[in-house]
Amino acid sequence: MPLDIVSSVCPHDCPSACALDVERAEPAPAEAGGRRLGRIRGAEAQDYTLGVVCAKVARYAERQHHRERLAQPLRRIGEKGTGLGAFKPISWDDALDEVAEALTRATQRHGSETVWPYYYAGTMGLVQRDGINRLRHAMRYSREDLTICNALSDAGWCAGVGAKRGVDGREIKKSDLIVVWGGNPVSTQVNVMTHIAAARRERGAKLVVIDPYRTATAERADLHLAPLPGTDGALACAVMHVLFKEGYADGAYMACYTDDPAGLEAHLATRTPAWAAAITGLAEDAIEGFARLYGATKRSYIRVGYGFSRSRNGAAQLFAVSCLPAVTGAWAHEGGGALYSNLGLVDIDHTLIEGLDRLDPSIRMLDQSRIGPVLTGDLRDLGDGPPVTALFVQNTNPLVVAPESRLVHRGFARSDLFVCVHEQFMTETAAMADIVLPATTFLEHDDVYLGGAHTWLQLGRAVLPPYAECRSNHDVINGVAGRLGAQHPGFAMNAVELIDRTLRLSSLPGVENFPEGGRLDCCPPFATGHFLDGFPQADRKFHFRADWRAIGPAYARLPAFPDHVAAIDDGDPERPFRLVAAPSRSFLNTSFNNTPSSIAREGRPTALLHPEVLGELRLGDGDRVRLGNRQGSLVVHARGFPGMQKRVVIVEGLWPNHAFEEGIGINLLTSADPGLPRGGAVFHDTSVWLRPA
Ligand code: SF4
Repeated sequence: MPLDIVSSVCPHDCPSACALDVERAEPAPAEAGGRRLGRIRGAEAQDYTLGVVCAKVARYAERQHHRERLAQPLRRIGEKGTGLGAFKPISWDDALDEVAEALTRATQRHGSETVWPYYYAGTMGLVQRDGINRLRHAMRYSREDLTICNALSDAGWCAGVGAKRGVDGREIKKSDLIVVWGGNPVSTQVNVMTHIAAARRERGAKLVVIDPYRTATAERADLHLAPLPGTDGALACAVMHVLFKEGYADGAYMACYTDDPAGLEAHLATRTPAWAAAITGLAEDAIEGFARLYGATKRSYIRVGYGFSRSRNGAAQLFAVSCLPAVTGAWAHEGGGALYSNLGLVDIDHTLIEGLDRLDPSIRMLDQSRIGPVLTGDLRDLGDGPPVTALFVQNTNPLVVAPESRLVHRGFARSDLFVCVHEQFMTETAAMADIVLPATTFLEHDDVYLGGAHTWLQLGRAVLPPYAECRSNHDVINGVAGRLGAQHPGFAMNAVELIDRTLRLSSLPGVENFPEGGRLDCCPPFATGHFLDGFPQADRKFHFRADWRAIGPAYARLPAFPDHVAAIDDGDPERPFRLVAAPSRSFLNTSFNNTPSSIAREGRPTALLHPEVLGELRLGDGDRVRLGNRQGSLVVHARGFPGMQKRVVIVEGLWPNHAFEEGIGINLLTSADPGLPRGGAVFHDTSVWLRPA
């Protein structure tokens, strides 16, 4: 029986940012500490979450009370990478002193850019995620280019639309056609399916899924198109070709709201369904059928996923897709338009949290996706600057999640590299650290959250006491900053003070004045949400001609009009297969890949192979198969799966490295090449060979 139910917000790297109802219970008598966590449910009162959360967060007690949670600061006394046995407990004061001394020593020897605070989105809370930048800027440490997830998709969306916002996800229920393109919400954003289900139930809406394999979402679709990975731009162009040719294009809308419809139409004249069929592997009539369905439906809503953000040409692909509602004028209709992310909707002043008033743009920026090349001294990254000799890591696990794992592992193994990792578990990255600090979970600290999928700004207050000696990211940053003598007002505030001041600086209600339940709906008026008062570009138009020069340095490799950009790892006779390292349902990057129910559901690292390929390799379900390319090879178990083209191989994850026979995981095979035009990790853009193992 729960003692009470309190509000919270899911902090994980997921656009839904679900509003949560958290059950708290008294601990069992033998247990020390405060209340235990019961079940977590979606909050009914928040009308995007609508009472639904994914299974992995519903079972959060498994993670919160996991017997392997880190309980106290640790100093490594044994071999790197061997786990908890290589560490011994130390006091917080000693741990923070050692961290500060190591960062100071490194700076004295090589200059401040030798220190690289390294983080990502293990929590999406603005204070506990981004506060590390305040330390970075105050101490003039190397900057971090946040490319590992959304650099490519942001670039593609903003090329046409102009800002990172789109039509409110709650309008899906008013759509007649929902196109889920490059995402698998059944596994990764369950709330999208709630709203799609309402549209199907109440309006008879159709669902189209475009994804290289028959995901759980595609299983539920009226139509599934499975193009080869990295070819969605060609599909989008051919769809637009049909829209123009067959009279579905809305000339009046385009004349008012877009920059160059005539130029676009002329450009698309050669982008026929036959042209796209040869690139995508789809049938011409399938492309035409989808184009007619889309063109005939004004209330058509494209829900764009993050799959686009994983290919060298991902920005160009997403840009092409974002042009569709501007051709048909679907943006103008309730339930019409598109959404990639609403993270740019609320104008938050990040100065205090991130110390942006101390940012010196002359300090070098290192690409987080290229941590392997950076740590192994690649001069393309380091230039004339010093080597990275000190890392301070929060909210990420690069030994598993970063591409070119072999280089990442080699870099972390350097004896001259000092590493501090602040974590909830002894991750594989933490196991390589000199000092490991135990971190609170979202239930144990305060923060404020935006949502990519919706329009709510939400406060998440601590609802449980910190486990054992765990401290929040904010407290640790302030503790290190104090020892280093770093100066910034944010270091003297607690998390609630920082949130409160940030909200007020952003012309939003402060903490005490926030609406009941800690949720503020920032949904703009209909005309703004649908860009009827103009797109957020300088000329207020949607751009069919992308200004890539304004977005990234590799602009010259991208065409202005939407197109297929052949800058992908499209294989050769040696590596004919296209590997997609897709997210699984039960893991979220590497979060949850250590909870019993998630592991039980996912089984083991598995390659989905087309049944004909399985037969040609003389393999059966469950047999071992070796996947490889120039970067190395690894063994997984094979399973026949007909829902994709023969050239496609799917390995869902992310599994820890130790789950693979040879101790290194799927990112051994993925490349740290930067996507176009401004970087981005290319996890779904990998050609491989296959052999029986
Ligand atoms: S669907 Fe996403 S935001 Fe919602 S509970 Fe699950 S991980 Fe968190």
